[in-house]
Parts: sequence; C-alpha cells; structure tokens
Amino acid sequence: MKITSKYFENEKYSCRNCKSDYLESQVNTDNWRCDGCGKKVSIDIGARNKLVRLLPSEMTEYDSVYDQYSKKFHDLKGINILKRNYLINVEEYRGIPVNKGEFVNCMWNDQ
Ligand SMILES: [Zn+2]
Repeated sequence: MKITSKYFENEKYSCRNCKSDYLESQVNTDNWRCDGCGKKVSIDIGARNKLVRLLPSEMTEYDSVYDQYSKKFHDLKGINILKRNYLINVEEYRGIPVNKGEFVNCMWNDQ
C-alpha cells in the first residue's frame, strides 16, 4: 500500500470554493491549499472520487486514503501520533508510518 504518492498522471487541480481550475505550476505544493482562499486544492486523477493531499495532522479518522497500488480508497481505523511520525491505521492493513511533513492522498471531502 502506498498512500503518499506525490504525483499521478494527468492530475487536474481546482478550488471548489473559488470555482477556479489551476495548472500544475499554479498549485502551492507546500501546503496543497488554494493561494486565493486557503481552502484545500481538489485533485482529479480520473478516479471516481477526487483526491485531497492532507498532512497527517490535517486528517481525521473519518478520512479515506487512496492506495496507489490497488487504486482504491480505504477507510481508516484510526490515527496514532508517535514521537517522530504518525501511524495511519488502514482497515484490513497494518499501520502505515507517515512523517509529519508528508502529504497523504485522501478522498476529497469538501476540506
Ligand atoms: Zn480558493
């Protein structure tokens, strides 16, 4: 399982709040937020649901993560905060360690 991929082919970016589409070069990848309004950028990778890139600290146990390998969303069992990183517990998988500065591909949920 890989939930922290930095890029998928043919990503399309938009801000739902500003109703604007953005080019790759216009997206702030330091925080994956819209420079205009500060809301999270919605990422269309051609899957049925759109993605949002969240830091572990921005995630909740109600988020679903997108696995690059299975190309599916997976529900969470919970998130553990460790000393140096986070442990993202995915249902039917073991915990996945993620650094606090690493973005996780989650299901777009109007963030
Ligand atoms: Zn915006």
